[in-house]
Amino acid sequence: MGATGPDAALPSRLPFEIIRDPRAMRARVEDLRRDGLRIAVVPTMGYLHEGHLSLLRAARARADVVILTIFVNPTQFGPREDLSRYPRDEDGDLAKARPCGVDLAFCPDAAAMYAPGAQTFVEVRELARPLCGEKRPGHFAGVATVVTKLFNLTQPHVAFFGEKDFQQLAVIRRMVRDLDQGVEIVGMPIVREADGLAMSSRNAYLSPDERRDALSLSAGLAAAEAAFRGGERDGAALVAAARAPIAAAASARIDYVELRDADELTPVETVTRPAVMALAVFVGTTRLIDNRVLRP
Ligand code: AMP
Repeated sequence: MGATGPDAALPSRLPFEIIRDPRAMRARVEDLRRDGLRIAVVPTMGYLHEGHLSLLRAARARADVVILTIFVNPTQFGPREDLSRYPRDEDGDLAKARPCGVDLAFCPDAAAMYAPGAQTFVEVRELARPLCGEKRPGHFAGVATVVTKLFNLTQPHVAFFGEKDFQQLAVIRRMVRDLDQGVEIVGMPIVREADGLAMSSRNAYLSPDERRDALSLSAGLAAAEAAFRGGERDGAALVAAARAPIAAAASARIDYVELRDADELTPVETVTRPAVMALAVFVGTTRLIDNRVLRP
């Protein structure tokens, strides 16, 4: 790639800064807003990969100030989930993020974000009920609440999220609309490894055998897409096509494979408008998600 390729260093206007204190974050951004600058935020849980970096580059192109947040949010993990072993590498993350033009990294710790006795949560209802909402009770309340807090602390004009977390993006769009949060939400395409595996911080957990079996997720989505392109419109048949490669992978166990309306996430029996094939699969003990939108 030449100097304009995706690896080219993008200019950042401000001296780079790491902020850990929520009040300092809020004060800093209020100054920037007073200066008339357009603020973008990219919320992440760190352990950055090209998927995250694609969001940062898009943010750099759309705003004066790019804020990366790195926060492994405890309230979106269930009691038996991987909070304590979630991978972390702040120095590595900042080394990857800075060439993408990040101005400010907001890296609070959990104690700073949640005061003792915190008891206020943001709940999105119907969109957060099926799929990961059903399998991970409380997950989207944790997500909606922390994203609201991050929006309050970083006061963005625009925020970038990946379509990899399709339901999360739908929940956040609805939350912003319903609560008049006044942040433009930009969804970005899923970034994949060369062999099709959707990039995820959790891919780091996979053994070599599991890494091979993890390809069954994208293979299932490709099979569903192929059936769809061949004229199949029946939801059950499309789901069966998606399930087959996953069922054949030794270390993979399906959590869900569902076809849902791409806007409302309601069940789809026959595809007549855009529908999302959404799946969650345990590969060994690692839970991976992926999705693909089927557009008639
Ligand atoms: P996470 O750190 O997993 O919470 O992800 C932070 C943001 O990066 C979310 O908006 C994700 O949807 C997005 N993201 C994660 N993986 C990918 C990917 N493979 N492609 C595009 N965006 C992604």
